[in-house]
Amino acid sequence: MIKFYQPQKGISLKGVQEFNRSVILKVIHERGVCSRATISSEIELDQATITRAITQLIEDGIVEEVSLMKGQRGRRSIGLSLDSGRFRVIVVRLQRLSFSVALFDLLGNTLDLVENAIPSQQSPKQTFGKIVEIIDTHLVKLKESIIGIGVSLPGPFLEKDERIILMTESPDWQVFNLISELRGYYDEISIFSNHDAKSAALAVWREMGIALESKVMLYISVGQGVGSGLVVNGLVFKGSQGIAGEVGHTSIDMNGPLCKCGNYGCLELYTSRLALIRSIQQKAKNNSETSLTEDASFADVVSAYHVGDDLAVTEVERVANYLAQGIVNYINLINPDLIILGDEFMAFGDTFLKAVDKSVKASVLPSIYQNIRMQLANIEEDLVLKGSFLYVLEHTLFVPSNVAPGKLMEEGLGI
Ligand SMILES: [Zn+2]
Repeated sequence: MIKFYQPQKGISLKGVQEFNRSVILKVIHERGVCSRATISSEIELDQATITRAITQLIEDGIVEEVSLMKGQRGRRSIGLSLDSGRFRVIVVRLQRLSFSVALFDLLGNTLDLVENAIPSQQSPKQTFGKIVEIIDTHLVKLKESIIGIGVSLPGPFLEKDERIILMTESPDWQVFNLISELRGYYDEISIFSNHDAKSAALAVWREMGIALESKVMLYISVGQGVGSGLVVNGLVFKGSQGIAGEVGHTSIDMNGPLCKCGNYGCLELYTSRLALIRSIQQKAKNNSETSLTEDASFADVVSAYHVGDDLAVTEVERVANYLAQGIVNYINLINPDLIILGDEFMAFGDTFLKAVDKSVKASVLPSIYQNIRMQLANIEEDLVLKGSFLYVLEHTLFVPSNVAPGKLMEEGLGI
């Protein structure tokens, strides 16, 4: 459970009221549905202050009363949740080979989701055109207000300047600044950029980290690239420029191939989806033992792996061992208590997790290993989209000055 700090002396009454509103919103958000009594037991505010703040939040369409629920002593009380009716959040996820645009209500329900492939000949400018086309369609149709657009990008993402500084295979994105282009196009809507693995880490921490009472959670995504997000006591650790967690560019072999980042033998060169597919396609040539061909897709490899195809099993396990090397380096550096693996490689399931776990166990001290739980991110939703939605809430509803009475209704943060 998050502990909220109390306002310090010297803050104006208005500031205190706004602070109270944002804290109440955060409790309701964390709980999903809760009673007024739960809120007052969780934050040190008197009942009258809480009642006043909630009345205003309901009036502003940010909170709504929902179905009755059982109170602690069997009594029934009115539940409160964020209002699903009046505000929306749009989220964009850019990947090397595809992009997604999703529409959320404040409860985090996905109301619409479009995913499009990015063909290799399509320029970033053309992709930008397709993204705004989808967002524009929402804006024309929606009666609700947009409180922000969240954009998640692959790393290394220099958060300080809000730009991708290296995108292996798609270097054009290093020149085309998606965030500033979107800001120029939607100059009246707040836009919040975040590194995709950090967005996903935020979602994973909420869905799994809180329940597992993790203090130091490491989320590793293995898919079109390899990234990670570190969540310490509920906060995503970013580093001085927002680059923290670039595990894909930590070396596992100084004699390995040269990476575009300047280092040799970077983890991503061995463990990304592209690396796996390339290696399998090459080895499938003139190999009569495998069902895979030199045109094998990722889905083909997943199917072959699950039926025990030798080439698929050998290659995926090789990736598991390389990945374990990267994880071991990370473990010795930050001492996590929970490691969650996510993204496309989760399709290989528990056998893949066990292979990674076995290799990690063999390479760290037993007393360190015993403290670590390693699991797959068994969450159906797109973690990056969900995390990006949460990131927008953190920077809008949970920022006291944004939730002054009437502000969202009158001025909006978006349109
Ligand atoms: Zn590198």
